[in-house]
Formats: sequence, C-alpha cells, structure tokens
Amino acid sequence: MSEFLLWFCVFYVWHILGTTVGYHRLLAHRSFRCPKFVEYFFVAGGYLAFESSPIWWATVHRAHHRYVDTPLDPHSPRYGNYQAYAGWIFRPVYPEHINPKLQAPDLINDPVYSFLEKCNNWHNSHLLNSAIGFGSRAVLWLFFGWKIALASVLAGLVVQQVPFLLNVVCHKRKLGYKNFEEGDDSVNVPWLILMTMGDNWHNNHHAFPGSARSGVRWFEFDISWLLIKLLEKLHLANSVNSRISLNSQTENELAAENKFATEGAFVTESALPLKAL
Ligand SMILES: [Zn+2]
Ligand SMILES: [Zn+2]
Repeated sequence: MSEFLLWFCVFYVWHILGTTVGYHRLLAHRSFRCPKFVEYFFVAGGYLAFESSPIWWATVHRAHHRYVDTPLDPHSPRYGNYQAYAGWIFRPVYPEHINPKLQAPDLINDPVYSFLEKCNNWHNSHLLNSAIGFGSRAVLWLFFGWKIALASVLAGLVVQQVPFLLNVVCHKRKLGYKNFEEGDDSVNVPWLILMTMGDNWHNNHHAFPGSARSGVRWFEFDISWLLIKLLEKLHLANSVNSRISLNSQTENELAAENKFATEGAFVTESALPLKAL
C-alpha cells in the first residue's frame, strides 16, 4: 500500500505541475520561455492527466480570460454549476467566437500539438487523449506491474478534475477573497493550495494573467511559481514574467501590460468584442 501511495504522489505531482506550469502558465499564458524538451516534459504531464489537446486547452482558457463571467465565457458558473464544471467540454466543435487560428496561432504550427488537436474536433481530440491516456497505462502495467499503472491512471484522473473544480469554486465570490476588484467573480481560495499547486490564487491570476507568479501576499504560497524560479536558476527557463503587485500606484499599469501579454498578442479583430454582448 505504501508503495502504491508513493507512486500515486509522484504521478500526482508530475500531472498537476504538467497542468499548472505546462498547460496553464507556459502554453496558455506564455509567462516564461523554456527549451522544447522542458516544454514537452510538462505538457506530457498535463496530457496524460486527460487534459486533452494542448491547443484546445490553451484556446479555451484564453477565451475564458477574455470573456470572463460573461455569456461568451466557455465555463462561467454564473450560467450553471454543472455546465461550468464539465458540461462545457462535450461540445462537438469550437463556438463561433473561439478559434484556435485566431487565439492560439503560436501553438498550431507545433506538429505534436497539431496532431493531438484532430482538426479542431473536440470529440476526436478528447477520444485520442483517452486512448493515449489509458493505452500508456496498459504499457506501464505490462512492464512495471499493476501498482504503478493503477497509481498513474488514478493520479491522472484526479488531476483531470482539478481545473474543472477550479473553474467553479474559484469563480464563486462567497468561497474566497479578492485582492483585486476587476468586475469578474474570480476569488483566491486558500484551501485549494496543495491540490492546485498555487493556481488557487485565481483572483490574483485574473488581475495579472501574464505573470508566471500567482501568489502576491506573504501567505499566498505558490508552488508552481517556485518551480519556475528553480527552472530559471538551472537555466531551463528564461524571460520569466514576474510582474505582479498589490501596490495601487503600479497595479493598473502592470495589469494592463499583463493582459496584453496574455490576450493582445493572440486575439485579432475577428474575435467578438465584449461590447457586442
Ligand atoms: Zn478564471
Ligand atoms: Zn489563466
């Protein structure tokens, strides 16, 4: 049992950091740069946690930031908890206002991500993800036995639920607190800290989405940020964006800069403007 738990923890850490550092802060927000082998190491951790196509994930997440808590937000709990938790992933294709060619042009030329995207068909990219996710565990079983395979697949399935949970809990004003009032419902939820490795400081993140760092107060411990700093020290990451501040004088300036870094570079005039709502 202790061996099983140990492997579960090892796989959990790889899968959750693959999601928070790989899919979220690196691919979706480009908050730092790194060599391709480091990128693929983290993205593989997210992919094997059943997070589906990296292009799909980044495109939808950028749309979430752009249209946060409006009817165009792909998963705002303002319009239903189940829909925000998991209901939204069962669409067959992208809605009209979300388009990877416009919102993730930096990712579609990567041959690996392009293959996993399956021509923008959501069902096919999720099915391929399931096939690779379960198939790779079958290989683990063959070579290393059932304990490692089971620990790996369970850790992956638990991590798959983390962004779903975050999409709902971190957008409920009553369940957390705000450092920044931006008009959306995003909140920081301290009890999610270990499970999410720092992505629980969600209100800070919505205020400064381009920053690789999400914790801003002394008690807002951000494990994913510490890992990115460690990678930088080891020369495995560079151009790390750490611009986040509680200081009201610089807050607006930095937030505008961060928002542009996240959205401005990737959203063209073809995306629906907010005022069209
Ligand atoms: Zn959010
Ligand atoms: Zn984000």
